[in-house]
Amino acid sequence: MFEIPVHIVKERMSFIPKKYIENNDDFPYLGIELLQSIGLMSLNVPTEYGGKGLGHDHGNFGILKALKQIGAYDLSLGRIYEGHLNALLLIDRYGGQNQKMDYFQQAMSGKLFGIWNSEFPSEPLEYQTSGDGGILKGAKVFCSGASNIHRPIVTAAGPQGTRMILLHMDQYELMEDMTYWKPMGMRSSVSCRFDFTGTVFQEDQLLGGVYDYVSEPDFTSGAVRFAAVQLGGAEAAIRATATHLKNLNRTGAPEQVSRLGRLAVLRETGMVWLKRAGEALDSRYVDPSGTMHLANMFRTVARDICEEVLKICEMAVGLQGMMEPHPLERIHRDLSVYLKQPGPDRTISAIGTSFITDYS
Ligand SMILES: Cc1cc2nc3c(=O)[nH]c(=O)nc-3n(C[C@H](O)[C@H](O)[C@H](O)COP(=O)(O)OP(=O)(O)OC[C@H]3O[C@@H](n4cnc5c(N)ncnc54)[C@H](O)[C@@H]3O)c2cc1C
Repeated sequence: MFEIPVHIVKERMSFIPKKYIENNDDFPYLGIELLQSIGLMSLNVPTEYGGKGLGHDHGNFGILKALKQIGAYDLSLGRIYEGHLNALLLIDRYGGQNQKMDYFQQAMSGKLFGIWNSEFPSEPLEYQTSGDGGILKGAKVFCSGASNIHRPIVTAAGPQGTRMILLHMDQYELMEDMTYWKPMGMRSSVSCRFDFTGTVFQEDQLLGGVYDYVSEPDFTSGAVRFAAVQLGGAEAAIRATATHLKNLNRTGAPEQVSRLGRLAVLRETGMVWLKRAGEALDSRYVDPSGTMHLANMFRTVARDICEEVLKICEMAVGLQGMMEPHPLERIHRDLSVYLKQPGPDRTISAIGTSFITDYS
């Protein structure tokens, strides 16, 4: 079975050549190049299509470890890579034979995929059938990766309901609207708005059926992937803090040692949960409700861990960690933004309901 080259990622990332350090607000071109060079872009493409075949009913822990590693390297890159894996998963689950052959081949040869679902209620993305395909009206926001994503999947409301459409961005000339993307962190995910009004597509670009995008258990349990990336951000904050304390010879102070101890416990807690979530994901079609329950708990605990880690690191490093060029400055901003994922209250309520119904 294919072993995820996580050690390679780690090795390379622990002595990342200067050229791979992109401490700016641009799309992480070099990070993508790095992932392509170590074969991570086809991690969940099935083996019969030439990929590594992880993330279906086995190997999800490996995927989560890779996501965490990449998140530790750069959270924006982690966000973009997570979208790529999610899109390939949707193609595998809902694509026809020709779509799989075509799109998996494209992923293998370097095309980037993504999933753009978020929109403002005032300008929802809709489509009308027209000729051999359809035409879009409306916009999407938070389109991570922007025009660098060659094959985004967008969700759009059609005559029968919402469907997924695979867009070929190289065939359109769409304007990246960055007006709505001025966050304090995660800027290099370049999560812009696109107005797709007038964009046409062919029938074979429609993916799956009506409401397949939100079908369970995949929709809810998919949250474990962004939680894994978030834990990578926590890992980076812990590393930056430990290095800072060592460099300043501040590891002898009992308060700092106690903080390091708490960080070590939080780090290990995240790792234990990551493994449990990966194993649960492997059996999501056997135990759908159990997997969704666990995924909801994992994303909740991952956020709690990250928030606690940031709080401790902030105190341990002090002002230096709030200023460039200290690495904690950017990690802190990026992670604070990336922790904002949809419906945290709804998630905890779902856990409570599921607990009282099925597990108590
Ligand atoms: C860096 C980054 C990149 C992203 N990239 C993409 C992308 O590529 N594609 C994409 O589709 N999306 C993307 N998104 C958007 C993402 O999927 C979510 O839409 C977004 O993170 C939601 O965050 P929110 O805080 O607005 O969530 P909300 O769900 O609005 O939560 C905010 C608060 O409101 C509460 N709340 C939620 N609903 C209600 C309600 N009905 N009544 C009362 N309270 C409520 C929540 O519990 C929470 O406390 C990205 C987001 C980030 C941060």
